[in-house]
Amino acid sequence: MSGDETGGPSAEADVKREAIRAGAVLAGIAAVEDIDRFAPPGHRPGDILRGARSVVVTAGGQPTRGSWHPGSARPQASVGYNRSIAGNSAYRVAHYVEDRFGYRAMPCPSGQVAGHYPYASLKLMAEMAGLGTRSMAGGVILNETYGLLYFGAALTTMPLQADGPLATPVCPDQACIRQWEKKGTTPCLEACPTCLSGQLEDGRIGWMEYRQDLCFPRAQTTAMDSFQKLLLAAMAESDEERRKMIVCGSHFTRAVRSLAYSAELSAQCFECLRRCPVGRRRRHELK
Ligand code: SF4
Ligand code: SF4
Repeated sequence: MSGDETGGPSAEADVKREAIRAGAVLAGIAAVEDIDRFAPPGHRPGDILRGARSVVVTAGGQPTRGSWHPGSARPQASVGYNRSIAGNSAYRVAHYVEDRFGYRAMPCPSGQVAGHYPYASLKLMAEMAGLGTRSMAGGVILNETYGLLYFGAALTTMPLQADGPLATPVCPDQACIRQWEKKGTTPCLEACPTCLSGQLEDGRIGWMEYRQDLCFPRAQTTAMDSFQKLLLAAMAESDEERRKMIVCGSHFTRAVRSLAYSAELSAQCFECLRRCPVGRRRRHELK
């Protein structure tokens, strides 16, 4: 549906504009058949919404430019990103598609609500909507302008013209290719050799590995999983005084508070992306 007999904006432009109005910084459209080429059965759009034909992917909630210049790492790790914005925007888009165009639509459940077994990959959907490509930094999707972004998605039975994946990968950046040729490493690999490894081949990612089991306890120290870990430690502690120290201590207090605010603010360590050249110009353009 790329035209409008009234001469107004196309349905695709209309839907994307609604996403931006709802707080996203970018929106793209992915075709279900593109996603199905990679997603395993059980994790495809049609498994979530019967008859899904298109996915409107919303992006936003990235750190502000100032957040990349904190006095110390901790403030950024406390307010670095907002996972709700892209999801909320997708929710609005789903209603908009139903009310304006009369097709069924449904927000894709995010990893936040799905626990350790996500219904579908928002990263894959974002790639197929042309919003960015996988990176060496733990496979996060990098957008050429913004760098790091977070994603939401609205699945719909409405046929929409897809944007499709980008022809040229965003990662590695030219600066990383030059560094690889000279030193055999890249800024992200150098920043976190514990969690990240990989190799560039002919200016592209040859292979990469992200050890999430090591990243999680380092990067998500005040998130929900940290709360579960500390709760277990407190329950296993037989000494009453020590148990009290765990539960009333500063670390557990921050973890509990992160539960209260998790829909708004909870972050990671960002070290792998701090020196990533993608999106750097934007991060440095303000006074
Ligand atoms: S978020 Fe932190 S711990 Fe995780 S891969 Fe990046 S630098 Fe390493
Ligand atoms: S630092 Fe370079 S190789 Fe690493 S994620 Fe950024 S662009 Fe990719």
